[in-house]
Amino acid sequence: MIVFFLTLAFGWCGFYRFYKRQYVRGVLYLLTFGFFCIGWAVDVLCALSEMIAELKNPAAVRAPQAAPRSGSMTKADELQQYKRLLDEGAITKEEYERKKGELLDDPALRFLVCEYCGTRNAKDAAMCSACGAKLL
Ligand SMILES: [Zn+2]
Repeated sequence: MIVFFLTLAFGWCGFYRFYKRQYVRGVLYLLTFGFFCIGWAVDVLCALSEMIAELKNPAAVRAPQAAPRSGSMTKADELQQYKRLLDEGAITKEEYERKKGELLDDPALRFLVCEYCGTRNAKDAAMCSACGAKLL
């Protein structure tokens, strides 16, 4: 919300463009008095619509890159816990990688790759289907 008021007050010197990290345009605004007030007006409208969007849905605006599913946050937390356990030496690298694969549901980690022949086996397989080696 503060962005809108700052744009309203300082938009003529390119505040909004600097805020958006468009530094070249910011300087241009500064030199041309907010593109002769036109750019200033556009920025104020942009900031206004952003403010309205933020008021309507604060979470979406503040964290647009956050995963939309509510369950994924706890998955990330869980993964972080496993990472901590790994760092503390409470679990092995393999256990961590497997847990990570389960949590992230990464297709590449759904398999147990045989360390002797490289064959992909089912995740819960006890031994390699190709060479019969014991799987972790
Ligand atoms: Zn094998």
